[in-house]
Amino acid sequence: MTAAPRPAGLGRAPQQGLTVPCPHCKANAGRPCTIPANGRRLAAPHPSRLDAAEGAAA
Ligand SMILES: [Zn+2]
Repeated sequence: MTAAPRPAGLGRAPQQGLTVPCPHCKANAGRPCTIPANGRRLAAPHPSRLDAAEGAAA
């Protein structure tokens, strides 16, 4: 049983940026970003993490 349809052509990480640790909130690679103040998960990675992921992929 699949909860949601998977977009075609996305054979990579489910969320961009998760391949590297977050330099902002210190989330480990593969883990979602969190708000350090209260530990809540973010729906999207921190922008600085996306930059780090792009740098690692390049
Ligand atoms: Zn983060």
